[in-house]
Amino acid sequence: MFDTKSASDAIHGLKSGSFVPYFQPQFNYETGSVIGAEVLARLVRPDGSVLQPKTFIPEFETSGLIYDLDRSIWADACRQLKQWRATGHNLPYISVNVSRKDFYHEDFVECLHGVAKENGLSASDIHLEITESAYTEDTEQLLQVLEDLRKIGFVIEMDDFGSGYSSLCALKDMPLDVIKLDSGFLSTEDKYNRCGKIVTAVVKMSHSIDIPVIVEGVETVEQADFLKTVGCRFMQGYYFAEPMDAESFTALLDADLPRFEKLPGIKDSGALDFFDIKSQSTLIFNSYVGGAAIISRGLNGKVSALRMNDKFFDMVGVSKEQFAKYQFDIMSSLAPESAAVFAKAMDDAEKTGEETSCMTYSPNAYGSRQERWYFNRFRFLARKVESSIFYLSLEDVSLRMRLLKSNKKLVEEIKERENLFMRAAEQINLFFWKYDIRTKEMYPCSRCQSTFGLPVRVEDYPEPAIGMCIFPEGEHYREIMKKVDAGEDIDEIMPLSSERVPFRVRYVVEHDKDGNPTVAYATALPVKN
Ligand code: C2E
Ligand code: CA
Ligand code: CA
Repeated sequence: MFDTKSASDAIHGLKSGSFVPYFQPQFNYETGSVIGAEVLARLVRPDGSVLQPKTFIPEFETSGLIYDLDRSIWADACRQLKQWRATGHNLPYISVNVSRKDFYHEDFVECLHGVAKENGLSASDIHLEITESAYTEDTEQLLQVLEDLRKIGFVIEMDDFGSGYSSLCALKDMPLDVIKLDSGFLSTEDKYNRCGKIVTAVVKMSHSIDIPVIVEGVETVEQADFLKTVGCRFMQGYYFAEPMDAESFTALLDADLPRFEKLPGIKDSGALDFFDIKSQSTLIFNSYVGGAAIISRGLNGKVSALRMNDKFFDMVGVSKEQFAKYQFDIMSSLAPESAAVFAKAMDDAEKTGEETSCMTYSPNAYGSRQERWYFNRFRFLARKVESSIFYLSLEDVSLRMRLLKSNKKLVEEIKERENLFMRAAEQINLFFWKYDIRTKEMYPCSRCQSTFGLPVRVEDYPEPAIGMCIFPEGEHYREIMKKVDAGEDIDEIMPLSSERVPFRVRYVVEHDKDGNPTVAYATALPVKN
């Protein structure tokens, strides 16, 4: 409720001028363009904290100070619109809130008109939001003032339409140009499953009496898509953007719009289906065997996890509580190079609409004091004004990476041993090879390979070696190999290589358990004379 601290802040705020207008854009969802902005009062305290209207508006209305506050907000908002237009920002109108109490001030119409003129604006640049409940009080007087305002050209909007119980009467009796449909009809608490039908009926009715409808409080893409399908294009709500200060709003006007469009290839409905508790996607998401999360990347580049399935925590390797510390900056646990790779994969997913993937490394995964490797796959879901939403599936590949690392080490060790052995073989001028009796394949040592230009595996041995003059011509060597094939060991001196250097050649044959010869290991050492 209204506490004395905020009351005194509020009253002081009015004097010191720290009430500021915030702007919330209204969109045409068909085209993506900004059609206007609602002006919402905020009280900025000296410490920079921002108070919401519910903490001061009720008190201001009872104390009569609301008129002062409203006038100061209208003046600020009109000046801002003038400035935007002067700097080439094309905002069609601003929509200001008008309290029922404002109508009782004699100079009310004059004041509004004056502030518009002072800023070079026409009355139609300003929409006046008058809450539906205002229509129940002193209707005679209200009717008169509304007629005067409309004559000047102000656009009258009936705010919170449908929130009270006299909406239809008000609609029948009051001059008005636009209906602002209360967000209550988008509620998930829809006991009788009627909201969608009521919204559809209101939109149809408003079309038939030629009064456009703006739906406020649109928070999800499903709501926006639903409204589009029933013929309502004008929307306002957190799905598109939250109320923001003038500076941020300028940035929004500068940005390329539409920014909430979905990329081609992404199904029209269901992109953010994951947020609907009852949706099929949610079921699939939760029963998906791998780790999955819906993540959002803000304008500052920080990535938050919005929803995670249970398996996600197993994959990340820490408890939900532990992960919570990183939930709003999940890249902070990654090594810097990995964070860059992660961001790049998201960029690509957003640009192409295709699935992208990357491997990341976390030296101290989410505070677990363990290093981990993750394989990440991304799918772009939707873009909002201030963030992009992705589907992330995550796999812990740490075990595989550790094995790969130790394999690499093993291979290096083996290479090192072989190197040592080859150096020794070089010193004594030793050649060696393996001969497979069953297949007649010969596997030369690497010295044989480099000295005689042999491949790793020689088929139909010994024919190629005889052909290459490594062995003497004639039947001699073929006879020896026949003996080996028959399972006999060999130990003979023979002239080898094209220089015919005498070598002592030895074959040692191995046999299987039935006594059949299988392979032979052979060496050749030069004979010193
Ligand atoms: P309102 O005129 O119905 O304004 C819409 C309210 O809904 C705003 O709250 C806005 O921030 C909020 N809203 C916008 N999009 C969403 C959404 O997607 N989901 C939800 N749940 N809420 C959304 P805010 O700014 O707190 O203002 C509250 C009320 O205070 C306004 O309701 C209006 O009646 C009043 N108010 C605000 N500024 C002024 C002002 O300058 N003068 C007067 N007389 N009243 C004001
Ligand atoms: Ca309003
Ligand atoms: Ca409203």
